[in-house]
Amino acid sequence: MSAEQRSRCMSRIQGSNTLPEIRLRKALHMIGLRYRLRSKLVGKPDIVFSPARTAVFIDGCFWHSCPEHLNIPKGNQEFWRLKLRRNVERDRAVDKQLRTEGWFVLRFWEHEIKSDVEKVAHRVFRVVTRRRLPS
Ligand SMILES: [Zn+2]
Repeated sequence: MSAEQRSRCMSRIQGSNTLPEIRLRKALHMIGLRYRLRSKLVGKPDIVFSPARTAVFIDGCFWHSCPEHLNIPKGNQEFWRLKLRRNVERDRAVDKQLRTEGWFVLRFWEHEIKSDVEKVAHRVFRVVTRRRLPS
């Protein structure tokens, strides 16, 4: 395994380059949006637009309990219910903290990106360009 392959493999394990994220980044790039990655902001947003103070999260349908795809594993249901509920509570706390700091928070489900990444990218575009206007 080459160093490059290993690093690609590691980043996949750490979840920093999941497929929906890459798809959205590509779509944003294509419509001319420039962004930052691996933010140190609270909650570690997936994509950040600093001048527009906009933070974008891509929420996995399972870990963040998407209402359409929530499917609690059969075994150990109590454990999973509690764990997944905590994730959602953490998401809401992160949103609140970022908003307090003046950030606009956009969250998308993994399935929204899979089904229509252009639509998601245009929603981001509208928010970012609006917020970049001088006040
Ligand atoms: Zn979903």
